[in-house]
Amino acid sequence: MLDTLRGALIGALALLAPGVAAAQEYPARPITLIIPFPAGGPTDVVGRLLGQAMGTALRQQIVIESVGGAGGTVGAGRAARAAPDGYTLFLHNSSHATAPALYDKLAYDPIADFEPIGLVADVPQAVVARANFPAKSFAELVAQLKTNGDKITVANAGRGSASHLCALLLTGALNVKPTAVAYQGTGPAINDMLGGQVDVMCDQVTNTGPQIRAERIQGYCVTTKTRVAALPNLPPCAEAGLPGFEVSVWHGLYAPKGTPKPVIEQVTRALQAALRDETVKQRLADLGTEPVKQDDATPDALRAHLKAQVEKWAAVIKAAPAAP
Ligand code: ASP
Repeated sequence: MLDTLRGALIGALALLAPGVAAAQEYPARPITLIIPFPAGGPTDVVGRLLGQAMGTALRQQIVIESVGGAGGTVGAGRAARAAPDGYTLFLHNSSHATAPALYDKLAYDPIADFEPIGLVADVPQAVVARANFPAKSFAELVAQLKTNGDKITVANAGRGSASHLCALLLTGALNVKPTAVAYQGTGPAINDMLGGQVDVMCDQVTNTGPQIRAERIQGYCVTTKTRVAALPNLPPCAEAGLPGFEVSVWHGLYAPKGTPKPVIEQVTRALQAALRDETVKQRLADLGTEPVKQDDATPDALRAHLKAQVEKWAAVIKAAPAAP
């Protein structure tokens, strides 16, 4: 009798609060994680690691959708227009905050069109060149850039990408004008560098670190204030001849604007669980980075960081000697 009453009561509550019932059921089907750069690049590597661990936490499959193009802005536009039902998530890097200053017009608003979920990781970049590029040190790289000008090619992941911004700041500070070569992402760019088709690049150590250690490419400096444990031989660029130079890449996880709050909360918990996962931590450490602290893997932390970064980079890019 009591059981029948309890069953009827639960049924009536579910009918009264369909939103609550739906949120409890989430995720009922696979979730798509949009990555705005091609497979094999640094954002993709972090995204796949995260997707797998978050999928375990959510007990649902997370399927990666690579949407490269225009420095990450094509994928960001796709994510902004996706249904806000929790079945599309979006991992981006710092170019989410710098694109507004590097594009006259964007098809989306990086702040207003997204629900922040949390910060993921801060990844140093390294300035690198193909293995047989005739510069053995940062000073020699500078000499090459000054002497050979536009004969030197510098790869980037498209206008507004982190590699593009890093190269702009680097060449602007040195007052040199190499030839920029745009790719959809730095995964394909590093493949070309391994094949000797492109000379120089700035890219996350998740991509460049293993290649530098295997001596398949040359590393000159890291873009953080201090040395990076995974690449102890590389000085910070700021010490190698570019005072004050600092431009690391941070990753943030978002959902389209309007995604229900209970879903955001559930995904945030899954993100935090993924970042606590020992395998994820170890894999990130092997790649030269570490997850953010749990307090930063939250919507509030990402919201505040994104806003501050949009403001910071708008001013830096405006003042940069090579500002477009
Ligand atoms: N490293 C990239 C950038 O320059 C993108 C990528 O992950 O391929 O923004």
